[in-house]
Amino acid sequence: MTAHILLVEDEVKLARFVELELSYEGYKVSVAHDGLTGLTTARESHPDLVILDWMLPGLSGLEICRRLRSTGVMVPIILLTAKDEVSDRVAGLDAGADDYVVKPFSVEELLARVRAHLRRTQEANTDILQFGNLSLNRRTREVFRGTRLVELTAKEFDLLEYLLIHPRQVITRDRILEEVWGYDFMGDSNIIEVYIRYLRLKLEANEEKRLIQTVRGVGYALRE
Ligand code: CA
Repeated sequence: MTAHILLVEDEVKLARFVELELSYEGYKVSVAHDGLTGLTTARESHPDLVILDWMLPGLSGLEICRRLRSTGVMVPIILLTAKDEVSDRVAGLDAGADDYVVKPFSVEELLARVRAHLRRTQEANTDILQFGNLSLNRRTREVFRGTRLVELTAKEFDLLEYLLIHPRQVITRDRILEEVWGYDFMGDSNIIEVYIRYLRLKLEANEEKRLIQTVRGVGYALRE
């Protein structure tokens, strides 16, 4: 599967150079030259990784980072920055960036970071899904709340897995029906409420914090 990388960089020459290098490595690349376009593209095109320049017209890279994270977008973000002071690095990481590369950088170094972050996501995507102290193993189909093993039925497991794949996002009932029960499901859509109730009972059996929140009139979200 080809990874899709979004590059947000206002220096057109540098952007072109990095775009060519990334394409040459086989990545699909989108480029934005200002902050607002970058943020919109990041939200709409669901890239696998974002390379984000810090100083951008419109909206800074740091601000884009914050806004993405505050809406639950967990894509790996590498910040490009000319600032090399420790406090700036901390600000970048505080804003939710995963990594930063200081300009001027060697393209080899950038490519190595890109590979490392994509590999990490792929590994994370495989078996274990986690949220707070809740973890779900897709291979063994075991679910733990902290150290407590939680026994789930097949459908409860599927529903929880679906929520865990989309942490912090509001998932509509329709989407849950389609994705977990399937398009051809003809039964009562109240079934979702019933299953959410079962899941909560089991996940909160020891009075643990609620993780599956109801978003009134819309659906559900996995949030602390
Ligand atoms: Ca810049």
